[in-house]
Amino acid sequence: MNAHVLGFPRMGKNRELKWALEKFWRGETTETALVSTAGELKQRHWNLQATAGMDLLPVGDFSLYDHILDTIAMLGAVPQRFQHDGNTVDCKTYFHMARGNSEKSIPAMEMTKWFDSNYHYIVPELSPNTPFKKDNSRLLADIKAVKRLGYSPKPVLVGPLTFLLLAKETDGCNRWDHLEHMTDVYCEIITEIAAHCSWIQIDEPILCTDLPAEAKTAFQSVYSKLRTVTNSTRLLLTTYFGDLGDNLDLALSLPVDGIHIDLIRGPNQLDEVLSKLPAHFTLSLGLVDGRNIWKTDLEAAARQVNIVRQKVKATHIMVGSSCSLLHSPVDISAEKKLDPTLKQWMAFAIQKCEEVAALKHAATTTETPSLFNENKTALLTRAAHPDVIDHQTRERVQAITPEMFNRNSPFTERIVIQRDRLKLPLFPTTTIGSYPQTAEIRKARLEYKKGTLSESQYIKTMQGHIREVVNHQEELELDVLVHGEPERNDMVEYFGQQLKGFCFTSNGWVQSYGSRCVKPPIIYGDISRPEKMTVDWAVYAQSLTKKPMKGMLTGPVTILCWSFVRNDITRSEVCRQIALTIRDEAVDLETAGIDVIQIDEAALREGMPIRKDQQDEYLQWAVDCFKLASSGVKDSTQLHSHMCYSEFNVIMKSIAEMDADVISIEASRSGMELLDAFNAYQYPAEIGPGVYDIHSPRVPGANEIYWLLQKALKVIPAERLWVNPDCGLKTRAWPETLASLRNMVTATLRLRNEH
Ligand code: GLN
Ligand code: ZN
Repeated sequence: MNAHVLGFPRMGKNRELKWALEKFWRGETTETALVSTAGELKQRHWNLQATAGMDLLPVGDFSLYDHILDTIAMLGAVPQRFQHDGNTVDCKTYFHMARGNSEKSIPAMEMTKWFDSNYHYIVPELSPNTPFKKDNSRLLADIKAVKRLGYSPKPVLVGPLTFLLLAKETDGCNRWDHLEHMTDVYCEIITEIAAHCSWIQIDEPILCTDLPAEAKTAFQSVYSKLRTVTNSTRLLLTTYFGDLGDNLDLALSLPVDGIHIDLIRGPNQLDEVLSKLPAHFTLSLGLVDGRNIWKTDLEAAARQVNIVRQKVKATHIMVGSSCSLLHSPVDISAEKKLDPTLKQWMAFAIQKCEEVAALKHAATTTETPSLFNENKTALLTRAAHPDVIDHQTRERVQAITPEMFNRNSPFTERIVIQRDRLKLPLFPTTTIGSYPQTAEIRKARLEYKKGTLSESQYIKTMQGHIREVVNHQEELELDVLVHGEPERNDMVEYFGQQLKGFCFTSNGWVQSYGSRCVKPPIIYGDISRPEKMTVDWAVYAQSLTKKPMKGMLTGPVTILCWSFVRNDITRSEVCRQIALTIRDEAVDLETAGIDVIQIDEAALREGMPIRKDQQDEYLQWAVDCFKLASSGVKDSTQLHSHMCYSEFNVIMKSIAEMDADVISIEASRSGMELLDAFNAYQYPAEIGPGVYDIHSPRVPGANEIYWLLQKALKVIPAERLWVNPDCGLKTRAWPETLASLRNMVTATLRLRNEH
């Protein structure tokens, strides 16, 4: 029986990769230094896994930016605009694809969420002339490195169908036209790596989604071809983030040697898988949650292994994590400040490896590993802990009435009152909330946290930053201002820290995209709001300007989606608890004189289950929670919402049901294409489609923005069009921020003149 995980976090326990990358991008280190840091991290992570008792070590799960981008590079599928010479993708080209080339004004590739997680991958672009050419030297070198360390490498490939189906078709391309050529390149890669390993992990999470008919045929033909080049090396088809559902028969009919199933997200599939599993298949059991931080119930998991053992030989069983541990922080033992009681309920990546090893140990020997006893005690204390249940919160949730989900009047009536009150020009300009989080800002927050900066000094410092941000916006002549969010380390953590029921780690970072990491709060108990959370900052900011100041809140669904959530009550119940606290905060902002309030639901789309048949139920409670949070305010208060993303089609109905007065969305990277969805659905309210991409330091030209706005005007009536960037500006530096916003205003003025 082999123990393994599907992938390990890349950043390092102290986010070494992040620091190395950012230093490199600033031009302060060489490529050699970056590559050497990456090498050390890979080696460290292999050692950690091996020490914990893993038999097969993933290779190729590490990435300098993103594993889909690595796959693009490995397949040579570089979009033409990067003028790649067709040979090895060098470091420069690699990062240009990820972040754009500001020197030459070449935009980055699109990025979107990895299934329903908060990880973002680079979207492959397929045009009719996308080249495919093998470039697997890095993977091969890593495989050899693992062997030199004396371990068994298990190369991890993004499966060809997952790759193809996640790609974006451009210039009239049909993705399936590339199938054959791409498969040939996969074959070449596998031929070369197969000689060095006993198993190849081939990730096809797409099998946990509703597949188009063509995909089913393609799966057969592609895997038959791959089979011809594997020789004695075995292919493990890995599926995760859900159950196989109606793709089960397809998956089990493929000419592979084993299948990995996610028993956390798809616990009910085990029986059917067991009853249909071909005799020669190895079954890899995803028993340890790769996407949450709670300890596994080892006894329950061991019982599942036992059930499997009755049908499958031990040599044909693997125990593992449900998915890659990419979504998990590295090491709980590094948490020195976390309440020890809460801490003993949790397991991070290293501990998850230990859990996997303990499960194997229990299944292959007659002894009960010591971890099982500790585990049992921890689970018992958690279930009985008094902080986990707050009766007042439970009663408030019980007492929610249907009226609490709706504003007083419909949008058409509210907007008249709001227009009269706010007196905004045509095409009002605004920003999404945050402004550059400079080193100074971070330093002040850190010193305050450490206690070296007093509260009054801290408030003064932050007010200084707010004043600066307000002044810039006044100079730029933006219409609806924001305070810039300098006091917020993170849009979710900031609220979590002020709410009861949340706890925090010091080092529980998880990669979001590239070098960006998030440190999700942990929801372990019932939620309530002891005090106002944002009102003082908003009131101060409003005192500096006559223009409307937006009060900025994070929505309940986003707080839920970007936290590690307790698994003892339903997510919808937790979300309702959060919604009530945000509702109270919005009403407090309004009472304090804030006329425009934005409730961000950046994660609404991402929280949606992958399977169609589960989506409606989710959308129902998610939209309800947003409405619960946003409907406490008067008609005259203008309620904005913001959503990151580009795939709105599927949730258009829900977005309209949210009934926000204004919504800002990410749109620039899709060239406003997504507005078609708003048009098709006849979205009734006001919209600010983002006019430039904030993920890249590139400064968009005024002309470019003007044309995007013209494009937007084809589908949105002038009186309902707002102008704003794609998202918050916290990751950007000031010079590019000011230059970009200046161009945004110039473009808007030109448009206003023409109307
Ligand atoms: N208000 C947040 C900000 O500007 C929104 C960020 C987001 O949607 N991701 O930072
Ligand atoms: Zn956003």
